[in-house]
Formats: sequence, C-alpha cells, structure tokens
Amino acid sequence: CGIVGYIGHRDAYPIVLKGLQRLEYRGYDSAGIALYDGTELKMSKTKGKVADLKERLESEISTNGTVGIGHTRWATHGEPNDVNSHPHYSNSGDLVIIHNGIIENYDALKKELKKRGYTFQSDTDTEVLVNLIEDVIVKEGVKLGKAVQIALNQTIGAYAIAVFDKKKPDEIVVARLGSPLAIGVGEDEFFVASDASPFIEFTNNAIYLEDGEMAVIRRHKEVKIRKIHDDSLVDPYIQELQLNLEQ
Ligand code: GLU
Repeated sequence: CGIVGYIGHRDAYPIVLKGLQRLEYRGYDSAGIALYDGTELKMSKTKGKVADLKERLESEISTNGTVGIGHTRWATHGEPNDVNSHPHYSNSGDLVIIHNGIIENYDALKKELKKRGYTFQSDTDTEVLVNLIEDVIVKEGVKLGKAVQIALNQTIGAYAIAVFDKKKPDEIVVARLGSPLAIGVGEDEFFVASDASPFIEFTNNAIYLEDGEMAVIRRHKEVKIRKIHDDSLVDPYIQELQLNLEQ
C-alpha cells in the first residue's frame, strides 16, 4: 500500500527503507526492496513488517546501489506471503516492478502470456503486468517508457507503479491511475513515493502525478511526463512543499 523509489548519487538503501517506515501508517502485510549496484539487481522481500525486512535484507544481500525501489503490500490478489510480496521480476530477470492497486483483467492477460511461454512465480496481478511490459519490449522493440505505456493501455484497473530495467540503469518509469504518486525533485537526484513523507527531509520540491499520467525519470537529467492514454507531453508542475517541522 506504499511505494518508494530513489535514483541519484547517494546510497538508495537507507532512503528507501526509511521511506517505507514513513509509509507504514497506510497499513500493509508485507514489504520488499530491490536495489541495483551497477552489476547486480538484488531483491529482498518478506511477509511482515519493515523491521523484519531490514533484518532479512541486511543478511541476505549487499545494500549498495544508487537506485532502488521499495514496497509495502496490502494483498488483493494472492495471499500475503514472501513470494507474493513485491517487488516482482519479469521472466528475464531484467525488469522489476512495485505496484499499488489492482489489475482487474490480469487473468485474461496472464492466459495470453502463458501461451507465449511466460511462467509465473506468484499469484499476483502485478507479476502479470511486469511480464506484459517485458513482452511489449521483446515484441515491439520499444524503450521501457513506451513499453510501460503500451502495456498500461491494455490494462483495466488502478495503479501506482514504479518499474526499473537493469539494462537501462539510469531511469525509473512511474505511472498513476487511482493511487497517489509523488516525485521529489532534488539536486541531481529524484525520489518517488506514495506521498511526500519519504523525501521531505531531502527536498521540498515535488511533482504530483495526475491520474492517467506516467513519468520517465532520468538520472542527472529530467522528469518527462506524458498522458498514458494519448501520449501527449505534460509540463511538469513543481510544487514547493511547506516543511512540517514536527515530522
Ligand atoms: N494487487 C497487488 C497485490 O495484491 C498490489 C496490492 C497493493 O496495493 O499493495 O499484490
């Protein structure tokens, strides 16, 4: 029920982990993180609390990497367990996704993907979406942002998502329909979260995506926002947040 992401020059791990703790109030049954250290895409996830994740993560994987995404899950499709927790990999292992919301037509999409040879580890609707995105990349030879857009236009449902491709380690693609998503704009670094609480200590500049919008966030570069449905470009509107010193 919460998402967090970071791409920039700092270690992503402490930012993403603390961000997940800030989003705990939203309620959740599982938590997970994926980090990319320049060579390896690493992931750790578990049913239970963010504190359980921290313990497991620090013994399971090295926590280096300047890009990362994290998730707290409120299960809708598939019971709360480790495998159904997010993030989810695509079949190739290159793509990783976190998702809040529901893909209502996941069953029909899953059947199609199975016919095309895709296999599934979890019972989630989310794993269907990440493989659909991969299938678009393979079939149509398009970039990640375009593939996310094409895939989302085939879905019915609600989402806030963040997707990362280890072959394109300088970008995170996010999209929103029916679940909130904010982008924190720092100095040469970007944050993603369900609300501003995970990044307010680093920047008070935020872009709130509107329903039906997606963004490609590029390290050292920019945030490019489009409408998912008709591909039109949207000028990023950066809001200055008021710092709440009590936080
Ligand atoms: N529908 C997804 C799942 O059940 C995401 C749930 C959520 O919003 O956390 O895994």
